Amino acid sequence: MSTDIAERYKQILARKDAAAIRSGRNPEDVTLMAVTKTHTPDEINQAIAAGAADIGENRVQEVLEKIDRVSPVRWHLIGHLQTNKVKNIIDKVVMIHSVDSIKLAKEINKRAGAAGKVMDILIEINSAMEETKSGIAADDLKSLVTEITSECDNVRIRGIMCIPPIAVDPEDARPYFHEAREIFENMKTWDLPEERFCPDTLSMGMSGDFEVAIEEGSTIVRVGSSIFGPRNYR
Ligand SMILES: *Cc1c(COP(=O)(O)O)cnc(C)c1O
Repeated sequence: MSTDIAERYKQILARKDAAAIRSGRNPEDVTLMAVTKTHTPDEINQAIAAGAADIGENRVQEVLEKIDRVSPVRWHLIGHLQTNKVKNIIDKVVMIHSVDSIKLAKEINKRAGAAGKVMDILIEINSAMEETKSGIAADDLKSLVTEITSECDNVRIRGIMCIPPIAVDPEDARPYFHEAREIFENMKTWDLPEERFCPDTLSMGMSGDFEVAIEEGSTIVRVGSSIFGPRNYR
């Protein structure tokens, strides 16, 4: 059992590196995040022992329950975040991947200021405008980014995150990843204050499609079930 998670982590890491190399990229420029929702601290520690240094959780509650029970790593919040939970997470995570409103950004700003830090965030794009998913329309990105950079001193926008529609064939996700990459490249040309805006992170790709995402330019892939096995929602 314990070797399974460690083994699978190393296999995914090797596939991540191989995808980067065949796309002419440096493997070090693509981070493998292990997504641990529903999994126990013991299971997470097995991945950490195998080298995992970036851990992603969807829910604030799960971060709080697990953070003191696993070895020190970088925690990322990747799920929808309610404003009333921001205060609980502000000093726990290195990045919030799922910002999709000025209201949420302002709350993060307020809590980051109180904690004496600058919080790195990504703006979540809803690629296919699916009603069940959070995220903003690509067309609204520039106005949201401009508003955040002008009003939030303690927030730094590092790029975008996207989750394409669930696909049977990973190739079905490619056009969405390609589009996200174009949005990201375009974003880099925006003339905004560097201390609040330095787009260097494109968060996309999950178990079923992370290699395609890397080929299309992802800088951080979020992989759960391929490392930890199927999730058991309680
Ligand atoms: C659960 C989750 C993942 C990981 O999904 P897998 O298909 O298990 O790899 C990645 N990103 C987000 C936002 C998630 O909620």
